[in-house]
Amino acid sequence: RTIYLNGSWVDEADAKVSVFDRGFLFADAIYEVTAVIDGKLIDYAGHAARLRRSLDALRTAMPVSEDELLELHKDIARRNGIKEGLIYLQITRGVQDRDFVFPPDMQPTVVMFTQQKRVLDNPKWKTGLALQSVAEGRWSQRQIKTVQLLYSSLMKTEAHRQGYDDVLFVEDGYVTEASSANFHIVTPEGAVVTRDLSNALLHGITRGSILDLAQKAGLAAEERLFTLDEAKSATEAFLTSATSFVTPVVSLDGNRIGTGEVGPVSRRLLDVYIRENLERGVP
Ligand code: PLP
Repeated sequence: RTIYLNGSWVDEADAKVSVFDRGFLFADAIYEVTAVIDGKLIDYAGHAARLRRSLDALRTAMPVSEDELLELHKDIARRNGIKEGLIYLQITRGVQDRDFVFPPDMQPTVVMFTQQKRVLDNPKWKTGLALQSVAEGRWSQRQIKTVQLLYSSLMKTEAHRQGYDDVLFVEDGYVTEASSANFHIVTPEGAVVTRDLSNALLHGITRGSILDLAQKAGLAAEERLFTLDEAKSATEAFLTSATSFVTPVVSLDGNRIGTGEVGPVSRRLLDVYIRENLERGVP
């Protein structure tokens, strides 16, 4: 695979970053993941906008222009022949002798790679996911998409070992999100409920799109806090993320959600999301 590294295209064997990079020493880095379907970038504008917000939060200047960023996404997909899969982009603050204090003018490290993946062929769309609730243990600035993913990785690995697909983080009794996706429920009245935006969760791009699509489809959509108990008694539940789109959740801590099978609202939102994006994806 060809990797983009600081302005150059290099073979993955030659793509090297300094051990003094702050991304490595301090997890001082942010990232984005954009799906590709049919050679088109899915929800690209949202991902580019959130990248800018994450960089602002870290007080790092955007190292490439908006136009260049889009061209780099198109170029790397083309170079690696990605028709279906994902593009990963990471920006670190850069290289500095190890010090908690960083100067304002560092040269960021920019890395992009691709993964070929059959994102439209997800077996979990048929079976649904089994989640395990765990205590929220991440830092308190979860709206920034940083590479500080250790707690989520430890918890998800442990959940896998116990036969679950993913974890659902709970803080003060309220659901925040899953390890790498936003979590939504459908109430017995048929409303789609998702946690309102704050520093407690990542402002998912797919989450935003799905809320719009739900409203367009005539479904009531509520952005508010909800408890783990409310989630357990929901009619349906589902996750959203850039590369899994809408994935139904059929059990929580071993209790069935709704019928315990993939529900009609989740299925419909998945279909609508893919259809809309194939029409308006960036070629
Ligand atoms: N929440 C977390 C913690 C994530 O890591 C992700 C995506 O990776 C999401 C939510 C979903 O965000 P998006 O729809 O922008 O991919």
